[in-house]
Amino acid sequence: EIKKLAYYDKLTGVANRTLFYNLAEKFFDSAKRGDKILGLMFIDIDNFKCINDMYGHKIGDKVIIEVAKILTKCTRGNDVVARYGGDEFLILLPDIKDYNNYKLVSARIANANSEVEVNGIKINIYLSIGASFYPRDGEDIDEIISKADKAMYKAKNIGGNRCAHY
Ligand code: GH3
Ligand code: MG
Repeated sequence: EIKKLAYYDKLTGVANRTLFYNLAEKFFDSAKRGDKILGLMFIDIDNFKCINDMYGHKIGDKVIIEVAKILTKCTRGNDVVARYGGDEFLILLPDIKDYNNYKLVSARIANANSEVEVNGIKINIYLSIGASFYPRDGEDIDEIISKADKAMYKAKNIGGNRCAHY
């Protein structure tokens, strides 16, 4: 119970920031030793405030839970899905073979995320995703997160509901 409270997001059950950083550190060490590529996806729900305003925070919470489920479903067991903040999620893709492989994950997410049903209400969800990579875009986890965040804003600024890489 203590571990669950310390390492997992209370609302969604996915990893919290603490667990994400712990795991990321291990994957970075192993990538540095083994000359491997790590991928990072920064995901932010588009116009989430409108969902809260229109349906209330309880429904908003359920939408966040649904997004966490979608992201978990679209990734593999070794990938790390974490809630980074309010409507922001991170996915760490350890040991991808090629920089382009993240597109498989983003395509799966794009196919899954259009409509969710919460309390009988159908709500469209749109996600903006930014991707960055070790070693191409940065040396450590903070640098990679900041680059993925920038790429996410690029995706949002050109209309959202899409994925861009740094
Ligand atoms: P954008 O398209 O630019 O991302 O706009 P946005 O409306 O999604 O706004 P933004 O990402 O900047 O802010 C996210 C909002 O999510 C802010 C806050 O009101 C709301 N929020 C944060 N945490 C929670 C939560 O746990 N539950 C609910 N229901 N809302 C939350
Ligand atoms: Mg948002």
